[in-house]
Amino acid sequence: MTVVHRLTEDMINRIAAGEVVERPASVVKELVENAIDAGAKRVEIVTAGGGAALIRVTDDGGGMTREDLALAIDRHCTSKLTDDLLDIRTLGFRGEALASIGAIARLSIASRHASEPHGWEIVVEGGLVHPPRPAGLNSGTRVEVTDLFFSTPARLKFLKGERAEATAVTDIVKRLAMAHPEVRFSLAGSDRSAIDYPVAHGDEPFVERLGQILGQDFVDNSLAIAAEREGIRLSGYAGLPTFNRGNGLHQFLFVNGRPVRDKLLMGALRAGYADVMSRDRHPVAALRIDLEPHGVDVNVHPAKSDVRFRDPGLVRGLIVGALRNAIHQAGHRSATTGGDATLAAFRTGAPAANGWRPAAPAAVAPTSFAAWRSSPEPAYVTAAATGFAEPVQPAFASVDVPSADARANTPAEINQSDRPLGAARAQLHENYIIAQTSHGLVIVDQHAAHERLVYERMKTALARSGIARQILLIPDVIDLPEDDVGRLLKRADEFAELGLVIEGFGPGAVAVRETPALLGELDTRALLVNLADDLAEWDDTTRLKEKLDHVAATMACHGSVRSGRRLRPEEMDALLREMEATPGSGQCNHGRPTYVELKLSDIERLFGRR
Ligand code: ADP
Ligand code: MG
Repeated sequence: MTVVHRLTEDMINRIAAGEVVERPASVVKELVENAIDAGAKRVEIVTAGGGAALIRVTDDGGGMTREDLALAIDRHCTSKLTDDLLDIRTLGFRGEALASIGAIARLSIASRHASEPHGWEIVVEGGLVHPPRPAGLNSGTRVEVTDLFFSTPARLKFLKGERAEATAVTDIVKRLAMAHPEVRFSLAGSDRSAIDYPVAHGDEPFVERLGQILGQDFVDNSLAIAAEREGIRLSGYAGLPTFNRGNGLHQFLFVNGRPVRDKLLMGALRAGYADVMSRDRHPVAALRIDLEPHGVDVNVHPAKSDVRFRDPGLVRGLIVGALRNAIHQAGHRSATTGGDATLAAFRTGAPAANGWRPAAPAAVAPTSFAAWRSSPEPAYVTAAATGFAEPVQPAFASVDVPSADARANTPAEINQSDRPLGAARAQLHENYIIAQTSHGLVIVDQHAAHERLVYERMKTALARSGIARQILLIPDVIDLPEDDVGRLLKRADEFAELGLVIEGFGPGAVAVRETPALLGELDTRALLVNLADDLAEWDDTTRLKEKLDHVAATMACHGSVRSGRRLRPEEMDALLREMEATPGSGQCNHGRPTYVELKLSDIERLFGRR
């Protein structure tokens, strides 16, 4: 006697439905995704009873023929996937949403394809399919789902109240609408107040849609984020650190137009703000990541809201770096312009992106021009003549050393200029070292360079005798949430190998006893918070040594030399010399350059001298 038997198609569909359709909002998500995939420019959603009683989604997309309609409700029937699961360019691809919904609810689909004389309608009730019949419909598709979960009462019991379900529907509609500003969305019903997001027509549809959904307030209080690395593009808006919220519900993340709730991305978002926001507050952000479909696997879960990146470290670094950068510059927001844009603007002679134009000689008041001409010391250019609002300051104004000019002719200086990274002449914005080389100038990103150097030093030290530690006279006791404490202590041995000695200090605290000597003074609290965040993302089997670049970067980030610290000229020169001596120091641990070089010929070109 055999007890093993094949499940009926209906039962298989009901089981699959359990994963695809968790609650009414999942149905709305699947139906709206289908409308977007069908090329709709307008999507209308109506719900009742939080979506459990009724969900109706109407679109003006391409529609389906009678034959396609009959097939579409079968499991594993799709028009979107052929033979490459890693080349997915649509929101749907699994061909199981309609079949799943039909198995657990009353589903009716009316659709008209341009090649049909009229529309067709098909009805499925708890898996039972009625044959297609003609329907009065001019174009597009209308899907109606009623009595959700009537055939799976267990699931029905798990639904929250009407209000909570209605809110979850609103949330998913907002997310999809945000990802597709070129589509008009409306959401209405007896269980809610109506919303309508008209098509964003302006130059920046995304920001317009953000304004519609999150309010102008968010737009006014956010920083534009744009970065790209190895073909992965990050764009969007991130709230100023001061514009934070009490929960993470205001974080909108998209991968290739798909709203996702991805742990890696949310962790990266948190890490980007780690230095500027306490752990119980949450940033507001709407960020899009666009990359080649091959760089990301979206087939992780039937609900398609988790993704796996081929190079997670790269994506994380891109997000964390871009956020930190934007936040770091936020203080000077009105004064900053994108480097590329400015260079391009100079090249073409157009005004710089901030509207500033180099003052033409004719525009200079004759008196100051004459005064300048007759001045015996032409080295000082007045603020008025340069057009800068701020007076021009010597670079080392606040540092107690001879001025750059006075140092210029010392023998040591001449030698340094011959070195590949030249002689340090100035530090700007507490992070960029400007050095003069024999053929031009070099700009070093001090923060990135330091991270790289620490990484290399740690690697070398590990390979030799281990990393030297320094004992703290008084241990730093850091209060942390209990799960973070647990995570950190579980790795205490591994941290000790890397020079960081920690031990438990009651249930909600960690004592830091020793730190890696090569880092100098550390902000131990910020370091532990970041490390705990990192650990939360890595699974328990990941060895810290495998993540050495990351751990080293995190440590370096909280060590004494970092962006935001003013360096003395000797310190800058020492950093440049160490970079020259360190292999691979031309790029930071995330693959960004640690310095850029401008040859004299480039500079001459900028000024039209060539
Ligand atoms: P998937 O979206 O993964 O292909 P679905 O079960 O959601 O699977 O849909 C099955 C098929 O039905 C789709 O591939 C598509 O061809 C068709 N379809 C579903 N909804 C629509 C719609 N609103 N407009 C046009 N075609 C649709
Ligand atoms: Mg679908």
